[in-house]
Order: sequence, then structure tokens, then C-alpha cells
Amino acid sequence: MASSTKFIFITGGVTSSLGKGIIAASLAKLLQAKGFSVTIQKFDPYLNIDPGTLNPYEHGECYVTEDGAETDLDLGHYERFLDTPTSQANNITTGRIYNNVITKERKGEYLGKTVQVIPHITDEIKRNFFKLGEEGNFDVVITEIGGCVGDIESLPFIEAVRQAKWDLGQNNFLVIHLTLIPYLAAAKELKTKPTQHSVKQLLEAGIQPDILVCRTEYSLPQEVKKKLALFCNVQLNCVIEAMDADTIYDVPLLMKKEKLDERVMSKLKLTSKSNTDLEQWKDFLGKLKNPTQEVNIGLVGKYVSLPDAYKSIIEAFIHAGAVSECKVNLTLISSEELSADSIPKKLENLDGVVVAPGFGERGLEGKIEAVRFVRENNIPFFGICLGMQVAVIEFARNVLGLKDANSTEMDPNTPNPVIGLMEDQKNIEIMGGTMRLGSYACELKKGTKAYQAYGKSKIQERHRHRYEFNNAYLSKMEAAGIVASGINPETQLVEIIEIKDHPWFVGAQFHPEYKSTVLTPHPLFVRFIKATIENKKTK
Ligand code: GLN
Repeated sequence: MASSTKFIFITGGVTSSLGKGIIAASLAKLLQAKGFSVTIQKFDPYLNIDPGTLNPYEHGECYVTEDGAETDLDLGHYERFLDTPTSQANNITTGRIYNNVITKERKGEYLGKTVQVIPHITDEIKRNFFKLGEEGNFDVVITEIGGCVGDIESLPFIEAVRQAKWDLGQNNFLVIHLTLIPYLAAAKELKTKPTQHSVKQLLEAGIQPDILVCRTEYSLPQEVKKKLALFCNVQLNCVIEAMDADTIYDVPLLMKKEKLDERVMSKLKLTSKSNTDLEQWKDFLGKLKNPTQEVNIGLVGKYVSLPDAYKSIIEAFIHAGAVSECKVNLTLISSEELSADSIPKKLENLDGVVVAPGFGERGLEGKIEAVRFVRENNIPFFGICLGMQVAVIEFARNVLGLKDANSTEMDPNTPNPVIGLMEDQKNIEIMGGTMRLGSYACELKKGTKAYQAYGKSKIQERHRHRYEFNNAYLSKMEAAGIVASGINPETQLVEIIEIKDHPWFVGAQFHPEYKSTVLTPHPLFVRFIKATIENKKTK
């Protein structure tokens, strides 16, 4: 490989959910602070082409990039930490790799050869490993390998990592293995054996990790570090402790304290391009940890049993809360448990309510009742995607008196389809990757709450939905107090609605949460929090 890009691979062992994504993002942040351009990519071992068709209950949120890729939620962490956009190339699944190889086979590109896992699948994996590096925009590409070492599914990825070392050569290639050091309360001991076994598994696959990052509830004593170094064949100073943190945003600083960035740079022969600049990050943490006020916000949705389903929204509140020096207590409320009777008790003490994105009919009536309550009681409201659509349905039913108004997603035969499918969505039969996805332009009307939040009229926001505001109802709605404050300039689709005579009632057809980062909190979240603070004062 001719490129001068350095490649870091992060594997995981012992258990899943150790936070490889956060470690990858933290390391990338530290390298970015040393002046390097860094990107992170994730290779997932499942067979879906992308996570767009996965149930959020099972896999958490589907994160959407500028170019409209439906990706793993870890890409959200990468963008939130680095403040740089990712793309389709940053998230590859086994399904996509096989799909590419089989498509090539059908085209006859393998010239009569028997197509096999090695070398054809592993070559395709490596082609994708190196793709972002070859564009010449990055000094460092960090690749997170999903799953655990030893899983049948991840074997081809691990084999490709082994081979990549020989393609890339000395000083250009590094493996970091993330493991768990469990604490046995009865023995009062931190145990290294699971890590030893997991490193053995890596060694069996021909990979010697260069650095161990050890998740632990307690600080690792020197003798535990020594034992790990000895048995796992790594340098003592490359056994890095990763203590449980109060917030994921502490992890870059914890990793800095452990000198993870220095170890990586010395192994890859990288010399820093600028002085470490984490001042803004520290400033954010300072505000996050020292709020001067707090608000209670309810997030109404149907996937509340797995908060990861709302990952980007939850993180967007952390970013916007910190900049406002305001602690946001976010309560997840199941829309299925909401009814006209239970709503006053559940919502009246909240300073603001968000209705979340979602799909399908379940819980819809509870969401509609929630919107009615906050509209009538002047409680700040923020509707996101389906949440905006619900606000439109509620307004049509209870203000315009169209009692049967609905979205055609919920009732295809509704006589009043205030939310419906666009022509280009009507004949779609393949579900994967066919929604309105990615970044679209939106023009804001001056004097509206949306304009006030952004402070400009031309914006770009990311989408992930099929259904749209039905413009046939726009003039009637406007006459009754709705303001279409954001419009797509090319298609005239309504992207934002608000209610004029309400302290803060805003619904966005797009997903603002995908663009919120630590250093660039999203203006709609910031303004919504401001409105909740003001609402609280009036109580
Ligand atoms: N189900 C709605 C649609 O497809 C909203 C999607 C969403 O909230 N992301 O239009």
C-alpha cells in the first residue's frame, strides 16, 4: 500500500458491550488534539447489508450519516467526539462484503476461479479497510471490529486484520485489544484469566495485540498489570487501565492520563503536529459537571425499554444541556402506557416534552394525547420526525376538527391523510435503504422560532422517513395557527412546523439529533432547553 496512512485496529474480548466505540472515539479525539486527521470505521459481523432494517429493540438506534447511510450507533459517537462527518464507507457489515463479492462473481469478475472466504472475502474486507486511507485525507484510520474475538461470525474480519499487517508493513499497523478484568467480590480480587484466554484466541488467529485496554471497576495494581503484560506478551506500559467513568465524555481524558495516545504514537512512529488542545472539551466537561439549574424533560416513545434506541437524542440533550449549564433530567415515557386519563399525572410536572421518532401504529394514540396535553397547557414541545407527524395529526383532529385525520402509515384508508407518502415512495417494494435518507436543504422563515434558533435561513438536516406533511392541508392549518417555518426549497415539502401562540411548540420532519456534537450542540435542542427553563420559572 502506497499511502502513508496509519491503521489501528480495535478488537474486543471476554464480553461484548465493553465500549469499543467509546475507546476508539476517545483515542481518535486524543490524536486529533495532536494535530492528526483521524477517522473511525466500524466493521460489523452480521449479515444484514446495513442496520436500517434492524429492530431498535435489538440493536439500538440506527444512525444516519450526511450521505444517507443507515449505520451502527457507534458512528454517532465517532461524530459526536470528533465533530467530523462519517459516511457509508465508515460502516461495513459482513452482509455488504458478501453482497459485493457475490455481485462480482455473477458479473464473472473472478475469471472462473472458485470464490472462497480466503482470499476473496478477506480481500474484499481489506479493500474496505483501506478505502478511507487511500483517499489521502487521513493520517490515521481506526477500525473497530464488532463482536468478540472467537465469535464464528467475526473470523474473516480477524483473518483480514492478520493479513493487513503484511500489506501495511511495520510502523503502519497496530492492534489494540479491549478486554474486561472482572472483580470477584468473594475473593476480593481482580482476575486476569479471561483476558489471558482472549489474547490466546487472538494469537491462535495469528494476531499479537500491541496494546491492551482493560475495562475495570477498580484501579489495576501494578502486579496485575505485570501479570497481564507477561502472560499476554505486551509491554508493561502498554497495559492500559480503563476505569468505569461517570460519563463517556470523561474517557478521552482518562485515556490521556493513561498515555494511550503516547503509546500509540510511539508504536506508529508518529510525531505530533500540534500541541494537545483539549481546552474546549474540558470546558464542556466543566459545564456538564457543574450545572447551575436543572429541568425535567419527558421523552415519549415506544422503544423506552432500550434507551440505546434513542442514543443520539439522549446525547444531544447532554450537549445542549452543558452549553446552557443546565442539568437535563430526561425521563423515558412509554407511549403505550399513556391515555387521556393518565397523562395529566405523568406530564404535568415536566418542564418540556419530546415526542420521539418511530414507526408503526403501536403507541400512536398515547403520543397524540400527549401532544394535545402539552399544546393546551403551554408546555414546551419538541417533535422529532414521527413526533412532528403526530403533532400534525393532533392539530388536524383537535383544532381543525378532522376527527379521522391520520398518517397513511397508520391508516392507509384515512379520509384525511394529513401525513402521506410522496409519489416516489408509493411503488417501493424493497424496504432496505429506500426511505428519504441523509442530508437535505431546508429554508427557514424569518421571525419564526426555528429561525431564531439557527440564526440563519439556509440549513441542511438529515432525514430518515417515508411519510411527509401533505401540502393539501397546509393553508387550512396555517389559517388555524400552524406556521410552516422550514420548507425544502426544491420539493416544497414541509420540514418544520410550529404553533404561533405557544411558548415553544416545534416539530421537525428531520432528525436534528444526528448532527449534535460535543463542540457543536444542536440549536433546536439548545432553544428547546431554553424554553423549558423559562417554562419552569413561570410555575
Ligand atoms: N414512520 C415515520 C415515517 O416513516 C417516521 C419515521 C421516523 O420517525 N424516523 O415517515
